[in-house]
Amino acid sequence: MKARKLILLIILSALLFSCRDSVSWEGLSEKYLADEEVGTLIFVRCTEGSNAVVEYYLKVTDKSVDSPDSTAKWVLFAQGEAVIGKNGLGKSSEGDGKTPVGEYAVSTAFGRYADPGTLLPWKQITPGTFACDEEGRYYNTIIDTAAVHHPCKGEDMYHTSPEYDFGMALDYNPSCTYPLGSAIFFHCKGSKSWTGGCVAVDKSLMVDILRTAVPGVMVCIYPDNL
Ligand SMILES: [Zn+2]
Repeated sequence: MKARKLILLIILSALLFSCRDSVSWEGLSEKYLADEEVGTLIFVRCTEGSNAVVEYYLKVTDKSVDSPDSTAKWVLFAQGEAVIGKNGLGKSSEGDGKTPVGEYAVSTAFGRYADPGTLLPWKQITPGTFACDEEGRYYNTIIDTAAVHHPCKGEDMYHTSPEYDFGMALDYNPSCTYPLGSAIFFHCKGSKSWTGGCVAVDKSLMVDILRTAVPGVMVCIYPDNL
């Protein structure tokens, strides 16, 4: 009898724990709706393999005359097909071909082309701009190799087109710990049906996002069937 009670207790605890820990798209919407720092929200709903659907939301506040309280809601502004890492979700180390799961802020927007008018911090990609993936002080940072005198063997961003015509760097591995992964970007689609660990969308959607996203934008990457 005692053993049976103990088992029941363990099952109940496990159930409670899993409920408290579970993430849902609805829950994410509510969480960021209540967060005044977040005015734009991107859902990357990973469907199968390297495929995903991106939904981009703007927070709209409806100030009704009748009500002294303003009500905020998310409005779907744009959406489109996306591709993620060739090995799917669950990044854990450099070169694993996976896209990280979770919620990420954007550290900077960037482009080989001129700033399309974004409110996000902007980094112009020029010849010599590299995304460093080597162990050392520049790991997981975007550098101007001439300025820092580092003969980088990482990603030559200027010569990566159309992928880096426009993009945003996600705040993944912010401590830049080697080899947890580097250069996790949200960028334009190239010719491949997968990425090395980034999220890639059509250029028109990328530009729409850059032109309207506000600082504080969050990118939520999870399996579609949460
Ligand atoms: Zn380097």
